[in-house]
Amino acid sequence: MLFEDLNLIMPIQKALKTEKYDKPTPIQEKAIPSILSGRDLLGCAQTGTGKTAAFAIPILQNLSSEILSDERKITRDTRHIRALILAPTRELAIQIGESFEAYGRYLRLKTTVVFGGVSQRRQTDALRAGVDILVATPGRLLDLISQGYISIHHVEMFVLDEADRMLDMGMFQDVKKIIAQLPEERQNMLFSATMPQGVSQLVSSIL
Ligand code: AMP
Repeated sequence: MLFEDLNLIMPIQKALKTEKYDKPTPIQEKAIPSILSGRDLLGCAQTGTGKTAAFAIPILQNLSSEILSDERKITRDTRHIRALILAPTRELAIQIGESFEAYGRYLRLKTTVVFGGVSQRRQTDALRAGVDILVATPGRLLDLISQGYISIHHVEMFVLDEADRMLDMGMFQDVKKIIAQLPEERQNMLFSATMPQGVSQLVSSIL
């Protein structure tokens, strides 16, 4: 199978050519059509399998098709966070943000990454400028929500990446608090290399 066979819009196909990707990896072949059609997804996959592109590509396409069909001009005030990706570490969050930037380089969507351990100033400036896709670690996200910098009430697509690592790192309380604030109607994607009980319980409660 080739990326051409996945019904991707031209700006994304062009970005994948720029990245020199020839064909989708097995998880991309399975996940991309499923996410494009709006279904929830549980992906058992480790780093190195191409799992980031497996969710980033269809999220970018779903969001951009709405923007293309939306006649209203998207401005700072009308832009909402419509895709939220939670990652356990700052390094992974940054890497995911870079992937969205790379595959979305020919689209007009804005991606921002927020994580703890650094001053929040640059992050809040970026948030104020308007964001479509937010990649976050759970603690900093809750912090910024409580300070009023972030609203997640317009999220349509939610990704929990490396869920087993989040469980190991004791982040599930925070993750559950975040999920409780998301709109009921949304598309969920959960990726985990292993499926310990805590993760499978969460899977059955959200997917
Ligand atoms: P990930 O599993 O998401 O951490 O991705 C692992 C690496 O594979 C990253 O460096 C990606 O840039 C790369 N990658 C993802 N999808 C493809 C693909 N279809 N072809 C070639 N490289 C890819």
